[in-house]
Amino acid sequence: MLLFDIDGTLMLRASDDHRDAVHAALRRVWHVRRPEAARVEAAGRTDLQIARAILLQSGVAADRIDERMPDFKRAAAEEYAVRCRDDLTSFVAPGVPELLRALAERPGVRLSLVTGNLEPIARLKLARGGIGGFFERGQGGFGSDHEDRTELPAIARARAGRPGAAYPQERTVVIGDTPLDIACARADGVRCLAVTTGPYGAEALRAADGVVASARELLPLLSV
Ligand SMILES: [Mg+2]
Repeated sequence: MLLFDIDGTLMLRASDDHRDAVHAALRRVWHVRRPEAARVEAAGRTDLQIARAILLQSGVAADRIDERMPDFKRAAAEEYAVRCRDDLTSFVAPGVPELLRALAERPGVRLSLVTGNLEPIARLKLARGGIGGFFERGQGGFGSDHEDRTELPAIARARAGRPGAAYPQERTVVIGDTPLDIACARADGVRCLAVTTGPYGAEALRAADGVVASARELLPLLSV
């Protein structure tokens, strides 16, 4: 089972509408005046983690944050749905559709997701990018499942397995573009391949089991 990250991995620079939707939801739910003024590193983090960091910098108390997180999840998905462009195909990373097509034809390969995006945002982004059909509903680990990315691979394995028997670690690989993707793979005891199509270069990603420059180069590494 291959657990793909979205931003920086399957899709590149497709996060402007997403960021704006998160900010709009923060204004709506907590009345944060200038969420865009907060300094937050978004790459590799979950949407809820990003929201919390902005809120704390904006002086919102932790208990008020927790109380209204469910409202935030709904608001962010709604705000993204109104902003998301109809066609995101030009934001799909080079080689990704071909890679997914080739992998989908291989017997025994399962395509799934581990992303910090809230699930409705992830699904819409992939659908508008024309690659949503590769990723089965009811599968994957999303920013809406847990604020902490390190929990997400285990959630995806539980969903892919049978009751009481999660999908095996030794047959699972996380594919992402940040040190946090590598950390979440390690936290769950699964392998990780990194791509340098996001903000990080090969040196910053050297803790992965393999580092490549593009999706095109992933296929040979996945030929087992
Ligand atoms: Mg990423």
